[in-house]
Amino acid sequence: MVSISPVLDLLAVSVALLSLAPLRDVARLAREPAAKRAWQALLAAVAFCILLVAVKAVRGLPPPLDTATALQLILQLVGAAIITTFAQLARRTALDVVRLARFEAQALTDGLTGLGNRRLFTERLEEETARARETGAPLSLVVLDIDHFKRVNDTYGHAIGDVVLKHVADTVMAGMRNADTVCRIGGEEIVIIMPRIDPAQAAEMADALRATVGAMAVSVGDGRTVAATVSLGFATRQPEEDGESLFRRADAALYAAKRDGRDRVILAA
Ligand code: GH3
Ligand code: MG
Ligand code: MG
Repeated sequence: MVSISPVLDLLAVSVALLSLAPLRDVARLAREPAAKRAWQALLAAVAFCILLVAVKAVRGLPPPLDTATALQLILQLVGAAIITTFAQLARRTALDVVRLARFEAQALTDGLTGLGNRRLFTERLEEETARARETGAPLSLVVLDIDHFKRVNDTYGHAIGDVVLKHVADTVMAGMRNADTVCRIGGEEIVIIMPRIDPAQAAEMADALRATVGAMAVSVGDGRTVAATVSLGFATRQPEEDGESLFRRADAALYAAKRDGRDRVILAA
């Protein structure tokens, strides 16, 4: 008599094999090392079980098909179908999470400079103000504005103005720590949130930035270069001060820097 059990075994193997590719994809998509290792271990365990059932189907002596054996084989098939469905769902969810994370990053990024946008600035300023209130650590905020930028646009055109703006943004980014948040909040106005930075450190970082941007010569074709200077205002959070007030003071210091002749750094009152 031909037993049906090897056929059901091989069917379960075929179904379960479909789970391997999605599980491998989820393991690849996982960013956190512990999660990645866990998915890889699950993938290895499923592959090992499939191998065991396949060996049993090919080499094993099929028992007579009584009710208990039939139930066990059906259960094996259902188990294989469940793991495959689970793996496919996990892959779809992981791809969804990746897509959402990309959208979220885009929604908080300025398209021209790649810096954070005003939304990110508002969110981060609130978060960092709350953290500074909890820990008592200093929090400094720098507001930077390109001097006479309208003249750059009027002289060289808007497209070259954009190139200069991007260079300034890149220069600011290159000088910052990982903990700092750099955002473009207006036309050519950039803010830097600096956690754990006291007024002396903020003054030093802001002036280094002013000097680096001032020394920059942006090549705009035909051997021509454009130079730019920037004015900066900065403030360090006072006890009980909220983010809005911190920004207001740093912005007022920027306007004082403009009034005093530009290309300078001023500490807020
Ligand atoms: P100040 O030294 O007082 O800051 O003078 P300014 O000319 O830089 O300041 P103002 O606010 O008068 O002009 C800012 C200019 O920045 C106006 C606008 O043409 C230009 N601008 C704003 N956003 C962009 C942009 O995305 N690209 C370019 N190319 N120019 C921009
Ligand atoms: Mg300006
Ligand atoms: Mg401006």
